Amino acid sequence: MFEYAPAPESRDIVDIRPSYGLFINGEWVEPQSEERHKTVNPATEEVLAEVAWAGEADVDRAVQAAAKAFPVWSALPGAERAKYLFRIARIIQERSRELAVLETLDNGKPIRESRDVDLPLVAAHFFYYAGWADKLAYAGFGPDPRPLGVAGQVIPWNFPLLMLAWKIAPALACGNTVVLKPAETTPLTALAFADICRQADLPPGVVNIVTGAGATGAALVNHPGVDKVAFTGSTEVGRLIARGLAGTRKKLTLELGGKAANIVFEDAPLDQAVEGIVNGIFFNQGHVCCAGSRLLVQESIADELLEALKRRLGTLRLGDPLDKNTDIGAINSAEQLAKIRELSEAGEAEGAERWSPPCPIPDRGYWFPPTVFTGVAQSHRIAREEIFGPVLSVLTFRTPAEAVEKANNTPYGLSAGVWTEKGSLMLWMASRLRAGVVWSNTFNRFDPASPFGGYKESGYGREGGRHGLEAYLAV
Ligand code: NAP
Ligand code: MG
Repeated sequence: MFEYAPAPESRDIVDIRPSYGLFINGEWVEPQSEERHKTVNPATEEVLAEVAWAGEADVDRAVQAAAKAFPVWSALPGAERAKYLFRIARIIQERSRELAVLETLDNGKPIRESRDVDLPLVAAHFFYYAGWADKLAYAGFGPDPRPLGVAGQVIPWNFPLLMLAWKIAPALACGNTVVLKPAETTPLTALAFADICRQADLPPGVVNIVTGAGATGAALVNHPGVDKVAFTGSTEVGRLIARGLAGTRKKLTLELGGKAANIVFEDAPLDQAVEGIVNGIFFNQGHVCCAGSRLLVQESIADELLEALKRRLGTLRLGDPLDKNTDIGAINSAEQLAKIRELSEAGEAEGAERWSPPCPIPDRGYWFPPTVFTGVAQSHRIAREEIFGPVLSVLTFRTPAEAVEKANNTPYGLSAGVWTEKGSLMLWMASRLRAGVVWSNTFNRFDPASPFGGYKESGYGREGGRHGLEAYLAV
């Protein structure tokens, strides 16, 4: 094996302020709430900055700013709104190196991913919805579809800037205004985005960013001035929000958890499948709602595939997320690390066999080695519950019907992957899998033109593509 020399990306390109206020009505404002919170680099536990925790009065101020901006923003011709979105997309491209480093520092994901996956997709999302802004009359929602008003948006920590893009780009394209709350452990790229809004001369109040924890999110989604709620996060919190909004006029979309099956048939190209399995569960430390966390492999090739997979996992490099050679970065928080540990211990206790490659773990920060469980039964917690970490559960099957049965045996339904050379088998499987996305001989592939969303406890509504417009229009 090759030895790699360190190839650290410089962090000099980012300028993190010691302390941040809230972004309301186009200005940085001091919060009324006295609460503040430190955001850390999970790879080193170094404090990066202090951010405000917005209280109810602060959220109210942000919603009022968005409500005031709505009549003006929604009355602009679509082509004018598109100009702002195109401008934002171009600024994101120009500042993509800085934003990638900032994302990696605050989140712990490898720079290779923030630079080559997150940031290009963020820019692509703004470009894509900029293109829709003047074509809404041709989107299939009637000749003059109207926006909803103020969108209250709450996002998680696994793809901070990308989830912001998924929320803000379609909302603005349709003529809504926005109050967005980033996750408490990853607020920094959303705050950098506030600066980008200023740089793009976006009219004040069209985008407002309020930082804080769950209580801030709850204050936002329950605010009577909010017309539309868009949430990405856990099924547990999604349920709370749905309960709170039942019976109100607010329109709601939920993007929640998942427990995807990645299904490998005996005729699949095995080396390619191994890469797809690695990308499916070890990309972003497995902090991916659509992660291929259950490998379903046809019994006849199980031993051969597992051997190849283990060989491949031995080459993954875990460590400094800013090093361009790193494959596996840090776990986002101590809380998430504790959850991953707890579920992995449950896997062992329930009788599955645990394996990790030899993998040195840094002394500071939050880390978990790539882990594979074999001998997993459908009843085990590691086969049913979302682990949201670099942990793969392996099950086997004999026939396509059994693969479908096992894949669908989950309360979730966000995504699935199928590996086979036979087109007919692929289509047969795809029509039977209850998952919002089915990837064929690939995994975790995203494009702004393609809708994404779930069945069952994975939520409802679609983001991306023409379908993604519907969530932000009165249709
Ligand atoms: P989470 O605890 O549900 O948090 C998501 C967001 O909601 C955070 O900003 C959080 O704030 C906020 N929040 C917490 N309690 C709230 C409340 N009562 N009312 C309103 N907002 C509240 O989820 P997470 O642990 O950050 O994220 C991981 C989960 O997200 C996983 O289950 C994953 O599957 C899911 N996810 C789904 C998708 C998808 O597209 N379907 C994409 C990514 C992630 P704090 O950060 O301060 O807690
Ligand atoms: Mg952080």
